[in-house]
Amino acid sequence: MTRADILVVDDTPQNLRLLSNILTKEGYQVRQALSGKMAMTAIQAVLPDLILLDIMMPEMDGYTFCQALKAKEETAAIPVIFLSALTDGSDKAKAFTVGGADYISKPFHLEEVIARVQNQLALLAAEARNQQLSAHLEERVKERTHQLELANRELYREILERKVLQSQLLELATHDALTGLPNRALFIDRIRQALDAIKADATTQFAVLFLDCDRFKVVNDSLGHFVGDQLLVAIARRLTESLPPTAMLARLGGDEFTVLLTGFADVPGVIHTVQQMLAVFAQPFQLESREVFITVSIGVAIGHGEYSQPEHILRDADMAMYRAKASGKEPYQIFDPTLHQDALKRLQLEIDLRKAIQQQELIVHYQPIVAIATGKIVGLEALVRWLHPQHGLISPLSFIPIAEETGLITQIGHWVLKQACQQLRQWQKTITDLPLTMSVNLSARQFAQIDLVEQIDQILAETCLSPEHLKLEITETTFMENAQLAATILQALRQRCIQLSLDDFGTGYSSLSYLHSFPVNTLKIDRFFVQQMGEQSDELGLVPLIINIAHKMGMNVVAEGIETQQQLDHLRALDCDFAQGFFFFRPMEANKIAPFLTDSGF
Ligand code: C2E
Ligand code: MG
Ligand code: MG
Repeated sequence: MTRADILVVDDTPQNLRLLSNILTKEGYQVRQALSGKMAMTAIQAVLPDLILLDIMMPEMDGYTFCQALKAKEETAAIPVIFLSALTDGSDKAKAFTVGGADYISKPFHLEEVIARVQNQLALLAAEARNQQLSAHLEERVKERTHQLELANRELYREILERKVLQSQLLELATHDALTGLPNRALFIDRIRQALDAIKADATTQFAVLFLDCDRFKVVNDSLGHFVGDQLLVAIARRLTESLPPTAMLARLGGDEFTVLLTGFADVPGVIHTVQQMLAVFAQPFQLESREVFITVSIGVAIGHGEYSQPEHILRDADMAMYRAKASGKEPYQIFDPTLHQDALKRLQLEIDLRKAIQQQELIVHYQPIVAIATGKIVGLEALVRWLHPQHGLISPLSFIPIAEETGLITQIGHWVLKQACQQLRQWQKTITDLPLTMSVNLSARQFAQIDLVEQIDQILAETCLSPEHLKLEITETTFMENAQLAATILQALRQRCIQLSLDDFGTGYSSLSYLHSFPVNTLKIDRFFVQQMGEQSDELGLVPLIINIAHKMGMNVVAEGIETQQQLDHLRALDCDFAQGFFFFRPMEANKIAPFLTDSGF
């Protein structure tokens, strides 16, 4: 450490010497000045660390000198210890007011001088350290502040990025990517809000509209999914334009759109909007230089406070839409609570039907088919029934469609087929030479099974029935829906000499052109045509034509649903081969049929 530099200012040379000696011995560097002026020069040369200053001096006294020192910035901090022979208190006070740091009275005491000098220098050193520390601290603070600022800026950027990402995610989660419309989740949320509003204030109104495109699948299948998507976007655009600004249009998925309507006066107001929506489909859509016409069905459900969940009102609107579609006449339908009851009934029926199969509540009745020329029974049609423990005998017309929808038909069909084959084999065993054919209905769903032929082979093997006694009844729709598979299956059936019957002819596509390509033995004229026949020979409708064409194609003809002698007479005159109807026999249990089989002479 460098030695402290002390400047002693006194007009008395002995004092100067004395103090210099004391301090030099203590190891300080000492400079001397006999007047204020000399002292100033010495200070200008090198700034001392401490000044010992006499008060009473000619020209400039110590107070004046000290004041001048304190007034200058570069010297203000130098501590000054006053030296004086004066001992009264007011001098001491003045010494401090002009900026003195301490005071030593003359005559000097060695220890006191040293102690006060050391004290001031120690204070000075502490001050310097202090300044150094705070400068360092300030530096650190600045540095940290800068770092914090940088970190803050980074954080802000990240937050901003997150926010953008979050809103993108939210957009994705609540909107449909193809059309940009709100999706199901957002739509349900808005219905929930509307429900809350109606519960809080019963005078508010809202309605949910459910729109579904008719036969959209055909567009997708024939023009491709890309065009299908374009059509959906175009539909979304037109619908948006047709709706009032307060309405919310959403895409639920596929070809389904929904609308949340608020702020209408009454139900006719809602219907007005529905009609505006329907009107946008009057014009064709221009897609890839093609004009596509599309029709839609709309279901409407009016909101009320009793709905506990948004999904329920959506379900009701959907159900009304389904009803509109099924009617095929009205393009829109307003939900009516009985629709819901119907749906519940259907659901119950489905549950019961599953049980019925397990608990063997299904039975098969048989209806004879007779040759018109001889009146003899040539075959039987197996017709399934459901003996319901509570509701009694249920017609297949009520449960076959549900069985088809749910796929249960494959189990049921398999069971009926086996039952019928077994029954015929049974009769064959008891009545010898029974040339009967057993007709069994096969639904489209069964016809789509890859292993259908194997199943039939197995049943024939198990029941020991020879294949030529089995006749399968298929409708035109079955052919059309499974055209490719149908060709293979029919080929395999023909190889086995299993016969085929085209059921309900006239009710489906009735396209005779494809009949050529299918090896069908029998054509069954639907009972609708039989029962439409009037008294006169010019009132026979399509029946003569159908019989004629069938014969030309090498098929025989069964007329279904004969209930009167007159119908039979007409058919005989038209050379129809076979007849089936209540006029001859109703469908019956197997044990009731048996006597007729023997009585007919077989
Ligand atoms: P389908 O195959 O056309 O059967 C003929 C239907 O006409 C039977 O109705 C029969 O009872 C009825 N019928 C016969 N003669 C007359 C008549 O003179 N007047 C009237 N009004 N009706 C007559 P059912 O038994 O109610 O069967 C209805 C339909 O259910 C059947 O029509 C068939 O499509 C389907 N079905 C019945 N059993 C089965 C089955 O085991 N499997 C499949 N997939 N469908 C079946
Ligand atoms: Mg049939
Ligand atoms: Mg039929």
